[in-house]
Amino acid sequence: MIKSINPYTQEIVFEIPELDKKDVEMAINRAEEQYKLWKEVSISERSILMKAAGEELRENAQEYAQIITQEMGKPIAQSLAEVEKCANLCDYYADNASKHLADKIIETEAHKSYVSYEPIGIILAIMPWNFPFWQVMRFAVPALMAGNVGILKHASNVMKSAVNIEKVFERAGFPKGCFTNLPIGSKMVEEIIKNPKVKAVTLTGSETAGRAVAAVAGSQIKKTVLELGGSNALVVFADCNLQETVKTCVQARFQNAGQSCIAGKRLLVESAIAEEFTKAFLEGVKELQPGDPLNEKTTIGTMARIDLAEELEKQLQDALDKGAEVLLGGKRDKAYFQPTVVGNVTTEMSIFKEEVFGPLIGITTFNDEEEAVELSNKSLFGLGVTIFTEDFEKASRLIPKFDEGAVFVNELVKSDQRLPFGGTKNSGYGRELSQDGIQEFVNKKTVYIN
Ligand code: NDP
Repeated sequence: MIKSINPYTQEIVFEIPELDKKDVEMAINRAEEQYKLWKEVSISERSILMKAAGEELRENAQEYAQIITQEMGKPIAQSLAEVEKCANLCDYYADNASKHLADKIIETEAHKSYVSYEPIGIILAIMPWNFPFWQVMRFAVPALMAGNVGILKHASNVMKSAVNIEKVFERAGFPKGCFTNLPIGSKMVEEIIKNPKVKAVTLTGSETAGRAVAAVAGSQIKKTVLELGGSNALVVFADCNLQETVKTCVQARFQNAGQSCIAGKRLLVESAIAEEFTKAFLEGVKELQPGDPLNEKTTIGTMARIDLAEELEKQLQDALDKGAEVLLGGKRDKAYFQPTVVGNVTTEMSIFKEEVFGPLIGITTFNDEEEAVELSNKSLFGLGVTIFTEDFEKASRLIPKFDEGAVFVNELVKSDQRLPFGGTKNSGYGRELSQDGIQEFVNKKTVYIN
């Protein structure tokens, strides 16, 4: 049995038997049969079903949001926002897929030459628990619109979400086999990747999981898209709008109890305002409201699992051993970790070097633009960075200097279906969302007619 444990109550909320090899093979065969039919369905017909999926999510948002909250501790208001975001994604691709996948005419000496974007078959998605609906839909919606079919290996602690996502597609009218949830552990993944019917893999999760999956896929010459987290800097210049910056930084770090790949995880503050900023930031963090995640007033929930909170505790201890000081919080009770702010953070500490996947942020100061960029780029990750300044000329000058997949100015790094999303360095490769995302898993066929 694969079990989901509510991290707030520690009660088992869901159990599902794990599929065996034979079950998995049958599911893949069924997906392959469906693919042969689905790829012939027109984009406008696919769009009708995708709109229905969006409606299904909106109509039953409360039910789906509660599942998210019970399985991984996200405050209910944030779970509802996640479901709504998924519904918007369905609408976006229903409205835009035909434009994104239209033949691209390229003038040559031929009578006609163009690129067409054709589906490739079964795509395997290995997904994490932190946004249990969104991460899956972000892959599934464009994949299905492009004429592919999807199979899902979701994180073991959010299988109820996985089952319900499958239900969303079924209720919307998608034929069986278009989207298949496989309740399995990660040890089954290698064999699935090696199945010739599976054409490509997308993974969102840890670097360790990404390396393991990409190695197998590489051995089979199968494409991967990897989204492996980040350690985004929040770069606060002295000329920022202090009040707005504090608000944005609190949200960037503490939403979803800090368990987001694009969260701001390192606060880099210009020395000239370090004291004033830190004081205001601590006040902002104190306003976070812990409590039962099902209570609408709760703004910071528990972490998704006790082991993740224990890991965070170790990272904090490493910083303290190396000379950092706790300015706020620092205590853990089972899966609940107090919102924590740490001062005197240096580049040697694991909270600077590693991904900090929880409600903890360290503050490091810098003296000039050059040092700010250097500190930000010192991370092994490259998902995104936010810079806070009212000087737009300075911002434009600095943007090309960051080695990141995204630079946001005066706004937290966030995913938006209209914009490509993905990283550089150890954050992975490939892009999700927008036209770039839907074109990752297609055959870009060159056609030349003389
Ligand atoms: P994992 O990366 O282990 O889990 C993510 C997904 O990958 C799950 O479905 C998991 O399955 C699967 N997986 C793990 N190892 C393998 C493998 N060797 N082969 C195939 N699939 C695998 O994340 P954790 O839950 O352990 O979290 C650990 C850390 O990962 C976090 O602290 C954070 O730093 C990072 N992370 C980043 C995320 C992001 O958004 N980029 C999301 C989640 C985590 P199963 O659950 O069955 O192990």
